[in-house]
Amino acid sequence: MYQEQFMQRAIALSAQALSEPGTEPFGAVVVKDGVIVGEGFNHSVAHHDPTSHGEVEAIRDACRKLGTVNLSGCELYSSCEPCAMCVAAMHIAGIAKLYYAASLAQSGKAFDGVTVEARHPIDVEALRAEAGATLVQRSLPAEQKMDREAVRILSDWAATRRACLASWTDRCAVSEESAAYGADRPTGRCIHAGKPAGSRAAPQELVSLRWGRSKETQGRQRSRSWEGRSWR
Ligand SMILES: [Zn+2]
Repeated sequence: MYQEQFMQRAIALSAQALSEPGTEPFGAVVVKDGVIVGEGFNHSVAHHDPTSHGEVEAIRDACRKLGTVNLSGCELYSSCEPCAMCVAAMHIAGIAKLYYAASLAQSGKAFDGVTVEARHPIDVEALRAEAGATLVQRSLPAEQKMDREAVRILSDWAATRRACLASWTDRCAVSEESAAYGADRPTGRCIHAGKPAGSRAAPQELVSLRWGRSKETQGRQRSRSWEGRSWR
């Protein structure tokens, strides 16, 4: 639910760019359960990082602080409507809701006359089209090389995940990172991976993170969420 104080904080972060070299006036905060868990603003020039947009910085900050890659249930407040890259980052992180202040049209108008010498601009329409295009539709030239070698690594990694899944009985003790995904998206450092059956005793500190669903339920969840999708 929208709370003005969080938008005020996002805008206050953007205002820091008025006095901090190498930054731009785009600030954002990530909110979970009514508390700011991450914040940031554009440091693209200062950090030599063209992906350092306010929203991305806030997502990185929240994920580090919460020790997760899953921000489902979190809301993001941004001083400006996000670009396509930031929307993608929000989607990957599982952000549940966006609140924004200035629109892209308004920021574009405000930056009228600010040339590429003064900042690193984004063609938001071109970015949106490129990000949503298939490989062959993109303006970015791309050629496939050494796919067999790369796929072998992917397959080997996936095999360790499948071995872990096959070893489940009715419960599974996993790392905090894995548990954050929920039972249908196990990733990260499962303590079962690579271990023979019978060596699945959970460390005491992980007991509270055990998944509670039955294997049958997990199987249904997996088939619904995994199959027919292109995972990257
Ligand atoms: Zn952005």
